[in-house]
Amino acid sequence: DKGLEKTKTNFFDQLSKAVVGKSKVDEEVLDDLEEMLVHSDVGVGTTIKIIKRIEDRVARDKYVSTNELDKILREEVAALLEENNSGKGTEITVPAGIKPYVIMVVGVNGVGKTTTIGKLAAQFHKAGKKVVLGAADTFRAAAVDQLIIWGQRVGVPVISHGMNTDPASVAFDAVKKGVEMDADVVIIDTAGRLHNKVGLMNELTKIKRVMQKFIEEAPHEVLLVLDGSTGQNAVLQATEFTKATDVTALAITKLDGTAKGGVVIGISDEFKIPVKYIGVGEKIEDLQIFNKYEFVDSLFS
Ligand code: GDP
Repeated sequence: DKGLEKTKTNFFDQLSKAVVGKSKVDEEVLDDLEEMLVHSDVGVGTTIKIIKRIEDRVARDKYVSTNELDKILREEVAALLEENNSGKGTEITVPAGIKPYVIMVVGVNGVGKTTTIGKLAAQFHKAGKKVVLGAADTFRAAAVDQLIIWGQRVGVPVISHGMNTDPASVAFDAVKKGVEMDADVVIIDTAGRLHNKVGLMNELTKIKRVMQKFIEEAPHEVLLVLDGSTGQNAVLQATEFTKATDVTALAITKLDGTAKGGVVIGISDEFKIPVKYIGVGEKIEDLQIFNKYEFVDSLFS
């Protein structure tokens, strides 16, 4: 898998070094493995869980060969993620009975929020869905323009009132347009400010409230976008955003540019919110539906 090449190479090299000259998985090998997982940004808590699983397995099987280590690691990580949120790779699916399905997208500036919305819009559009975008990130100069460009590229309407306008009013008009157009999906970009928790919460609550004037259950999804190359910063952002609003899905971007794709495992384990998409490049097709088995395979093999 091209997009995850850096993480994969990094991990595989380290793993080979850790087991060189050794035939048996022992305490020393497990210590090295633990360090590697932490270095790959899996996170300390999740790393401990993974090591414990492998230790148990070594204790049970008495002898585990180092040749099998990557296979066992893969199995145990996949099993851990399976226990957390069941189901193989899932995208955001638009239920037949709900129209339009409203997706609010949150995340701090620069994580790839606008790009992810563009890529998502392209996927829905390609699947024959009618899409409307709402440019409610009205605080950043380029955000509105960028979303309009994405809208033109994909061929879907973008509702915008320009910069420094009221984000809630943009969201309101986008949902209104979605209803008028009989759209399947409305995707709302939001401002990525984490300046203070109460401010963020109030802003997102206000956006939700005005949308609910049209559709009581809106937003049906809150997609949090995190930059996977920022490692533990992404974890901190997830902590803040999950406190501020009900996040239902995650997209983790920029995994092509990092050797630390392990952060996806840590975040998935820690927040128990399904990772639905991973970003592996800047182009329109570089948004993959997350499949935990394929992901773990691509990391550890
Ligand atoms: P926003 O401020 O969160 O809306 O971020 P943008 O969507 O403007 O993205 C910021 C930068 O990250 C842009 O240059 C994007 O092309 C880039 N970007 C977004 N997603 C990815 C990704 O998955 N991989 C790479 N390499 N770059 C990405």
